[in-house]
Amino acid sequence: MLIGLKEALSYADSHSCAIAAVNTPVFESLVATIRVAEKHQVPVILAHAQSHEKINRITDIGPAMLELARRSSVPCVVHVDHGEDLDYIRTGLELGFTSVMLDGSRLPFEENVARTAEAVRIARSFGADVEGELGVMTGNENGDPDQGVADEALYTDPEVAGQFVERTGVACLAASFGTVHGLYHREPHLDLDLISRLRARTGVPIVMHGGSGLSQDEYRACIARGVRKINYYTYSAKAGLDGARALLADRAGVFVYPDVAVAATDAIAEDVGSFVRCLYGIGG
Ligand SMILES: [Zn+2]
Repeated sequence: MLIGLKEALSYADSHSCAIAAVNTPVFESLVATIRVAEKHQVPVILAHAQSHEKINRITDIGPAMLELARRSSVPCVVHVDHGEDLDYIRTGLELGFTSVMLDGSRLPFEENVARTAEAVRIARSFGADVEGELGVMTGNENGDPDQGVADEALYTDPEVAGQFVERTGVACLAASFGTVHGLYHREPHLDLDLISRLRARTGVPIVMHGGSGLSQDEYRACIARGVRKINYYTYSAKAGLDGARALLADRAGVFVYPDVAVAATDAIAEDVGSFVRCLYGIGG
């Protein structure tokens, strides 16, 4: 069934877990993620990032995300990830997305507050909630070796975060405490104490971006401090490619493209499965 962001976050609070927010820019990752959530009977967030428009447009993949969410046996949030402008967020809300992220983290503070507050106003008129972002997370998803390092000078300041949440009305906050987007090229250095201080000062759940590539212990430590939503994309996308490659290595058995899509779906489901089991504290 389709649910809102706040419902998912309160599930996470009451179960001391973090909700898996998986980017599903292709049908294979969408089907794989729902399969995993249904297998373990846990809520999940299906996300489409504005930067993934080149893979599939939100107006194409969005209705599929919504339809599969509605008929799923588990609660699903359908979320705009890293919305860069208000028009894009509005497009998602008009399709029926129940949650949006406005990423104003690269804007000056006052502009980030103004644009995020406007996103909250628009989202509320659709009965939806907003995730904001404060503090800059470096990195990209293309494996640039100079990008995969977090810069402590850019970590989110709890006092500024508190003001940001009060002034914007966001339901949760993506903050910078040591993770980077994309692939890690050095050992991540997580500031766990900062997560506790952010949670205490803002009063809202903290969101981890750049969740690919951390150890299970690191996820659990962040959840213990107040992280309630963890975004996940790069490693599942890589798992899909590895699954396709493994199949193609034995070309004799492959005659049509859908065979590759099936192999990719299975590989993504396996990867997202271990991520989900860690976040929700499921054994096996
Ligand atoms: Zn992100």
